[in-house]
Amino acid sequence: MNNHIDIFNIPISKINLLDLNRQNLKYFLISLGAKNFCTEQVMSWIYNYYCDDFNKMLNISIKTRKKLYEKSYIFASEFIEEKISYDGTIKWITDINNQKIETVYMPEKKRSTLCVSSQIGCSLKCHFCATGQEGFQRNLKVSEIIAQIWQANKRLKEKNIKKNITNIVFMGMGEPLLNLKNVVSALTIILDEYGFGLSKRRVTLSTSGIVPALDKLRNMIDVSLAISLHAPNDFIRNIIMPINRKYNISSVLSSALKYFKYSNANRGGITIEYVMLDRINDSNEHARQLSVLLSKIPSKINLIPWNSFSGPSFLCSNTDRINMFANILRKKGFTTTIRKNRGEDINAACGQLTGIITNYFKK
Ligand code: SF4
Repeated sequence: MNNHIDIFNIPISKINLLDLNRQNLKYFLISLGAKNFCTEQVMSWIYNYYCDDFNKMLNISIKTRKKLYEKSYIFASEFIEEKISYDGTIKWITDINNQKIETVYMPEKKRSTLCVSSQIGCSLKCHFCATGQEGFQRNLKVSEIIAQIWQANKRLKEKNIKKNITNIVFMGMGEPLLNLKNVVSALTIILDEYGFGLSKRRVTLSTSGIVPALDKLRNMIDVSLAISLHAPNDFIRNIIMPINRKYNISSVLSSALKYFKYSNANRGGITIEYVMLDRINDSNEHARQLSVLLSKIPSKINLIPWNSFSGPSFLCSNTDRINMFANILRKKGFTTTIRKNRGEDINAACGQLTGIITNYFKK
């Protein structure tokens, strides 16, 4: 056994239980000689009571607790900065060994959505996205994805905010399908009745379309799917999303359609995300091209006014243009929504996440 000690004085050979979904936790507990039903008890302590101390898990035998303490720990990386927008959006930054990720909470009238990160940075370098300009550091572990939800729930309780998280979207930093194994494991915990217990329709994985991973995903998990399309043809998509040169629009949409056919979570159609960039992808002709592309894909279109950040020379399409674009799509029969900008004043809006700290918050 490796007895090195990490910065939290935890022998690195110990397992963080937040890395284990129910099935893996069961195997682990059986290896410790625990009873079968112990898995649900431990998960309930972790995800219902946010308990990270084995001594407090009183319905678990002392022998098992001792073994758990010897072989494992429960650790959720903490938020080191919190910013609150005038519209109620909260952005949290987590420091993971001096690398930063962002998590965003967006309360609305009928629901509250948490946007989580799946990687530190992103390798795909979409030109309209601040995360893409920061470069890629590494994939997040399951525990680091789960920690964002765990800490967000705890923080909302501490702040006495009654609007619980009802929806989770993987639209923060990173391309989730480039961290497939860990993202799927985290999703199983999010959907698990002994985990966070969210419905599959309320959990959305958003991808630029990594086709081989998307093809695998349909045999791994059923959640709501959003495709970051952002262009009506390959010519424009090649320019603004370099990944399109590897997986073009037709291959992405055909893989998405296969996912749709398998899925219960997407009965209302797959979400197509389309960022509105002035004179790049926002003409009437582009709207018509988009409607042709999507004619055989059960889908709903979400138009996203572009959020600026320092760097690219894009402009956001003006409101009239966005409305005109939306109306063309609606006339063609597509459910089309225009995303409300959230947290723009704290750089928490879509495409603005970079993990840059401005000041530490006092707990
Ligand atoms: S839009 Fe998504 S996939 Fe593209 S660079 Fe940003 S985080 Fe990566």
